[in-house]
Amino acid sequence: MCDWCEKYGDGYERWYFNPANYARRLYKIRREEAESSGAETNPQAAGGMAVIGPDFQEARDQGDLEKMQEIKQKAEAASWLTHFGQVITLEEALKIADMIYPIGLMTCSCRRSMQGYPSEENFTCMGMGPGMYKWERWPDTYRGGMHYLTPDEAKEVITKMNKRGLVQTVFTFGTPYLAGLCNCDYPDCAFIRTTVDFGIKLLWKGHYVAKIDPELCTGCASCVSRCQFKALNYSPSKNMAYIDQFQCFGCGLCVTECDQGAISLVERAKLPALANVW
Ligand code: SF4
Ligand code: SF4
Ligand code: SF4
Repeated sequence: MCDWCEKYGDGYERWYFNPANYARRLYKIRREEAESSGAETNPQAAGGMAVIGPDFQEARDQGDLEKMQEIKQKAEAASWLTHFGQVITLEEALKIADMIYPIGLMTCSCRRSMQGYPSEENFTCMGMGPGMYKWERWPDTYRGGMHYLTPDEAKEVITKMNKRGLVQTVFTFGTPYLAGLCNCDYPDCAFIRTTVDFGIKLLWKGHYVAKIDPELCTGCASCVSRCQFKALNYSPSKNMAYIDQFQCFGCGLCVTECDQGAISLVERAKLPALANVW
């Protein structure tokens, strides 16, 4: 069980299946808390990102490990309190789409800021719950507007994005309030990039880990480019794919690519060495 299921699961199999974490009551409490503390209430206010800034890069360039560690700790603490994500599988994302209403499709701010993608080609981000009714308050964030989706439409969009190779994730906006159902990839996603490249955990691993059956793998390597977390590689000497399970985020994108059925997902909790690797 991850820390978040323990704190906010309330008996549900996963904390992101607990309807209370999407509730209007929580949205209201979090918003009022933010307002009374004078903090930025814009939904894009990403505490962890704000802490990292150029200082981390500078400390890295100078080899200042102490400073890097200090920034990492501050960024993670701020992120876990305000805005962080966790990887989920396609099946889990489809289940959430059936649970929460409304779901709005909007432009992805990571791709806009990291890659300069124009808004009209950039509808990969989904917002959930009562906060969606307030989107007009932040026109700069929701450039291109908001497209409300029925549950079936949301599931269709999520399935198409998974097929394209985008990872499904959930995001908090004032933890544990969950309001983001995102479709992300490396290096566009600032959260994947910060977590994988800098080791600053703004995106938590999911509840599964992938494993390969060497008897079934033919070494075609078509799964390798599906992995957004640098966990999946190809060994020319063995002529097969292999997974660094400590690096695997359990997204399942490789599973759906393998037509040999050689990759499967195992529950992290059932693997003693990985049960606490998040
Ligand atoms: S978390 Fe993913 S979908 Fe959301 S804004 Fe970032 S890359 Fe886009
Ligand atoms: S797609 Fe399947 S068969 Fe091909 S390398 Fe990956 S695991 Fe092996
Ligand atoms: S190895 Fe497979 S399940 Fe693990 S992170 Fe990579 S694509 Fe996702």
